[in-house]
Amino acid sequence: MYKLLIGDQRRTGNGAITVIEPATGQPLAEVAAASPADLDDAVAEAKRAFATWSKLTPVARGEMLYRFAELVRAHAEELAVLEARNVGKPIADARWEAGHVAETIRYYAGAVDKFFGHTISVKKGGLDITLHVPLGVVGLIVPWNFPMVIATWKLAPALACGNTVVLKPASLTPLTALRLGELALEAGIPPGVLNVVPGPGGEIGQRLVAHPDVAKIGFTGETATGRAIMATAAQHIKRVGLELGGKSPNIIFADVDVELVAREAANSVFANAGQDCCARSRILVERTAHQRFLEAFVRVTESLVVGDPLDEQTQMGPLISARQREISETYIAVGQSEGARQLCGGQRLPRPGFFLTPAILDGGRPGMRVVEEEIFGPVAVVMTFDTEEEAIELANGTIYGLSGSLWTNDLKRGLRVAQAVRTGVLSVNSSTSVHLQAPFGGMKQSGLGRELGMHALEQYSEVRNIYFETQ
Ligand code: NAP
Repeated sequence: MYKLLIGDQRRTGNGAITVIEPATGQPLAEVAAASPADLDDAVAEAKRAFATWSKLTPVARGEMLYRFAELVRAHAEELAVLEARNVGKPIADARWEAGHVAETIRYYAGAVDKFFGHTISVKKGGLDITLHVPLGVVGLIVPWNFPMVIATWKLAPALACGNTVVLKPASLTPLTALRLGELALEAGIPPGVLNVVPGPGGEIGQRLVAHPDVAKIGFTGETATGRAIMATAAQHIKRVGLELGGKSPNIIFADVDVELVAREAANSVFANAGQDCCARSRILVERTAHQRFLEAFVRVTESLVVGDPLDEQTQMGPLISARQREISETYIAVGQSEGARQLCGGQRLPRPGFFLTPAILDGGRPGMRVVEEEIFGPVAVVMTFDTEEEAIELANGTIYGLSGSLWTNDLKRGLRVAQAVRTGVLSVNSSTSVHLQAPFGGMKQSGLGRELGMHALEQYSEVRNIYFETQ
C-alpha cells in the first residue's frame, strides 16, 4: 500500500483508495486516504517545518532543490512508467513529463536567488526597500491529467520561496505525488517541508482550504471547484492561485499550409486524450480553407495510433476513467442533436480499458453546448468564419480564456488578432502553450494568477515594504 507522507512518517490513514489503471480497468494500487486528523497533522508538521525552512537562505534552499532535481532525473523512468500506467498517457509523453519535472525543480533552485527586491526613491528621502517573504504553509490541490507536472509547477516555486507544503493529489492519480515526496526527503529536504496527503477532495481538499494555518491554496482543476475553493478561502482572506478549465480556440486562416496545420491541430486537441486544459478543442477555420482543412484533419486524426500507453508507438491512450469516457460520448451525442456532423471517431476499442477514438464534429456554432462547454476528452469541434472580426468574436465567445493558437502567414494580421484574443497564453504558428521560463495561466473564468517563469515566485511570496528614516 502507498502511504501518506506526513513529516517523516508514512501513515496508513483512514481507509484506502483503489487506484485503477485506465488501460486495463483493473486495480493498479491501494493508496492510504487521509482522515481529517491526518490532514490537520500534515498542516501542523508543515507549520513546524516552516520555522526553520523559511529561515534558510535562498541559496541554501536552492542547493537542496538541486539535489531533489537530480534524484528526480535519476528516477525519471520509474516516474514515467508510474504516470503512464496511472493516467493512461503514452510512455513517450510521460518520459517528457518526468524530464520536465526535474527541469522545473532545477529552474526554481536557480531562480530564487535572482528574485530581487527593490530600492525605492521615496519623496521623504531615507531608504525604502522591498523584501520578498514566504507566505507560510501552502496547500496545493492538483488534478489527474498531468499529476506530477502540475504538482511540481506549484511545489517547486513554493519551496524555493521558503514556504512549506501540504500537497493533495487527485484521488485518481496519487502515485507520482507520493513518490516525489519520498524523493524530496531522500534529497535532504527536511521532514515536514513537503507533505503528501491523498484523500477525497470534498472532505480533505475542502478542509485544507478552510484550515486557518494554511496561508495560500494553489489549485488546478475544474472551474466549478475553483469557485467553491474561492468562496471558502474568502472566510480567511486566504490567497488563492487558480488554474481552471479551458475551451481553447485554434484559429486557422486560409493562407497557411493546411496539411501542416491539420497535423498540429490534431496533436493540440487529442494529446493526453484531449484531457488537457489547453486542448485546442474549438477549431475556427476560414471558410475558403474549410473543406481542404477538414480532409487533412480527418485523415491525420484517423491515423493516430490509439492503444496501450506502454507501447512506444502509441500516440493516444485511454481516458482516465469510465466516467470521463461516458462524458465524451454524451457530448458527441449532444453535438449531433444540436446539428453538428460527426466526421470520425467516438468508438470504443474492443479491449478492456477506457479507450475512445478521437472524434471530430463539424458545423459548430455559437450557443451549442459542444462549442461552449469544456468536454475534457478527445472531441474537436470545427467552426467556420469569413472575416478577421468574426474569428476574434468566435475565439472570445466562451467564459474561458486559457490558451489558444493562431495560424497565418500575414504578419500584421497575426499581430492584430493575437492582441485581440483574450487568453492568458497564445501561440502564433505554433501549438506550444507551455514554456518553463514564461508565465502560464488563464484569463476570465480560466483562472487567477500565473504559474511558471519568475512570475510563479511572486505567487508564493508576499512583498513587504520597509522604510528607514536616515535623518
Ligand atoms: P477537479 O474535479 O476540480 O479536481 C481537482 C482537484 O481538486 C482534485 O485533487 C480533487 O480531489 C480536488 N477537489 C475536488 N473537490 C474539491 C473541493 N470541494 N475542495 C477542495 N478540493 C477539491 O478537477 P479534475 O477533474 O481533477 O481536473 C480536470 C479539470 O482541471 C479540467 O477542468 C481542466 O481544464 C482543469 N485543468 C486546468 C489546468 C490549468 O492549468 N488551467 C491544467 C490542468 C487541468 P479528488 O480527486 O479527490 O476529487
